[in-house]
Amino acid sequence: MHAASRVDAATGAIVPPIVLSTTFERDPDGGYPRGFSYQRKSNPNREELEAALTALEGGAGAAAFASGSAAATALFLTLEPGAHVIGPTQAYYGIRVILRDCFQAWGVEVTLVDTSDPENVRRALRRSTRVVWVESPTNPLLEIADVAAIARIAHDAGALCVCDATLPTPILQRSLELGADFALHATTKYLGGHSDVIGGALVAKHDGPHLARVRHLQHVLGAVPSPFDCWLVARGIRTLPYRMRAHSANALLVAQWLASHERTEAVYYPGLPSHPSFDVAARQMAGFGGLLSFRVRGGEEAAVRTAARCALIARATSFGGVESLIEHRASIEGPGTATPVDLLRLSVGLEHPDDIIEDLAQALA
Ligand code: PLP
Repeated sequence: MHAASRVDAATGAIVPPIVLSTTFERDPDGGYPRGFSYQRKSNPNREELEAALTALEGGAGAAAFASGSAAATALFLTLEPGAHVIGPTQAYYGIRVILRDCFQAWGVEVTLVDTSDPENVRRALRRSTRVVWVESPTNPLLEIADVAAIARIAHDAGALCVCDATLPTPILQRSLELGADFALHATTKYLGGHSDVIGGALVAKHDGPHLARVRHLQHVLGAVPSPFDCWLVARGIRTLPYRMRAHSANALLVAQWLASHERTEAVYYPGLPSHPSFDVAARQMAGFGGLLSFRVRGGEEAAVRTAARCALIARATSFGGVESLIEHRASIEGPGTATPVDLLRLSVGLEHPDDIIEDLAQALA
């Protein structure tokens, strides 16, 4: 709460003001006495957000971006042509699209493996491997990667381990303490928390050349969040621990209920002991988060019909807001997706769990 807030020295305002100025006054001798020169380089709201993210992750520094995708792109832009990246087969599909459509053309080589077994990562290593990318839990199948084991494998090979920790947030998973060199967050999701801002961030464990390069790319490429975007994410962070607890508690109840329902084929939620990586999740997470997926008996048509019948739960993409959202994931990921066509992804919000379950009960009936 306090990392993402401060009393304004000029006015005493309890809520930090939004500084919209794109440019800042220079001293007669040419210096910038307050540290700000131009909004793309830095500004008070972005600096406050980056400081809060650094404190939350226990990192050495952070760089905020205009989206989670822009943050991922900046990380991949630190690579030279010929560099090799290992990433998860099943994870947020947009990262695979960025690698396939942009970075493979620029000479980055990519191997996708099932990261729920660290040995698959070890087997995929090459002398040119520079980045091992993990996402845990993954969107939308909620697979778990053992971040500590994979970070060790990456480091032994001289590669960086980057962990997309959008789903757990720093509240439920200490990605940098587990060994990741960078934690990536789509702040669009739980950190913003209210479905009203797109943003991303990279938080670095070490203050070294990689963070310096990311900051340089942030500045020169300009995929930066506006002061208002930064302010919104900082506001979201002030209630993050409480929201994550409530999301986790609600999602567990909903997952348990769905798992015992005759119309569901499978429920993917790392907090269910039936999850194949439940032990790893229980060890590396302080709670299991608000996202789950389930497969509806009867195939794609039955799944789409179930989503269509939801009344309280809105049919929409994204997750991490206070309101519950349901989505037929395969149709948004498009052709070539490996997501099962009978799968619905559910972002369990902060409504009363009885209301969420009642809506699902009538939709599945
Ligand atoms: N990482 C994960 C796990 C995501 O789910 C998303 C978006 O859904 C992103 C990254 C990309 O974030 P953004 O939509 O802000 O670009």
